[in-house]
Amino acid sequence: MSDAIRPQPGILDIALYEGGKSHVAGVANALKLSSNENPFGPSDRAKEAFQRTVHTLHRYPNTDHHNLRHAIAEVHRLDADRVICGCGSDEIITFLMQAYAGPGDEVVFTEHGFLMYRISALAVGATPVEVAERERTADVDAILAACSQRTKLVFIANPNNPTGTMIGAADVARLADGLPRQAILVLDGAYAEYVQGYDGGLGLIESRSNVVMTRTFSKIYGLGGLRIGWGYGPKPIIDVLNRIRGPFNLSTAQLEVAEAAVRDQDHVNRCRTENARWRAWLAEALAELGVPSDTSLANFVLARFADAAEAENCDAFLQTQGLIVRRVSGYKLPHCLRITVGDEASCRRVAHAIAQFKGLR
Ligand code: PMP
Repeated sequence: MSDAIRPQPGILDIALYEGGKSHVAGVANALKLSSNENPFGPSDRAKEAFQRTVHTLHRYPNTDHHNLRHAIAEVHRLDADRVICGCGSDEIITFLMQAYAGPGDEVVFTEHGFLMYRISALAVGATPVEVAERERTADVDAILAACSQRTKLVFIANPNNPTGTMIGAADVARLADGLPRQAILVLDGAYAEYVQGYDGGLGLIESRSNVVMTRTFSKIYGLGGLRIGWGYGPKPIIDVLNRIRGPFNLSTAQLEVAEAAVRDQDHVNRCRTENARWRAWLAEALAELGVPSDTSLANFVLARFADAAEAENCDAFLQTQGLIVRRVSGYKLPHCLRITVGDEASCRRVAHAIAQFKGLR
């Protein structure tokens, strides 16, 4: 290829995103606990909606996502005109980058923040700024100190992936209020539904003009395979994002399944309850085996081993037992394994295998 053909600056600095493994060579039916997926899958109502869409596949989808936006707004008591839907919350993150950051601008996130913040900042030529955490938890003072007149976007996942930790409402408000005037705070609520009584920071958005929230159907709604996310924020920001959103960014199946899913909050509540129960059980079982973790508020546990070698060996052993968990070396946590909270049988199986690895069973 001609060496005159070059990508935009920043693109070659992007390390390829490595998704959670889904199979192990030579092991049939391995149990995947590597991508924070809901072990119970989507609600029956969502599955039925998916079946129905087969009759309208020749039609283009609705371009303004009217029904889905209104369903989300009804369930969360929001203004439907300030809801935007995308192909996973990844796409909402991309829209924010495209609209608000470019060469010379800075995008701030935490040390163990979600990898897509860095990737999508580099993709638009912006400069990623990574801020140290305190005890694997976002440090508001450090984030504020890292902001400058070039900061355009600040990302906080609350709870965060892969640490599972979160910061409280007062800290989030302090962060929003302390940002430079030109910066937007993005509250990534991919795991918000797992936190009993948490609204993802909606109250803050109502009272500030510089806060946007992103949410997903990939986690508690059990729809990672379909790719649906949404965002909520001040009308002027959502209007800007809609200008760069392609008219058909979501298919009819995505729209109708998500609408049915959001209207079935009983399923969400059941999944939250089960997750909380087995997350606590798993964290305690691992702690008893000498593998501690921080208190996770999400649907995974970040298990800490003595060092990177022990984590790597445990990962390899688990694979021989047909269990796939996530190495988080890309997040600079090489001594940790992130384990999705599955159903009861999965949690018992992974705890048993780690006990065997430790020579305790
Ligand atoms: N934010 C966080 C913190 C995540 O962990 C993920 C998924 N791993 C996403 C956003 C993106 O989710 P999706 O694009 O599936 O909505």
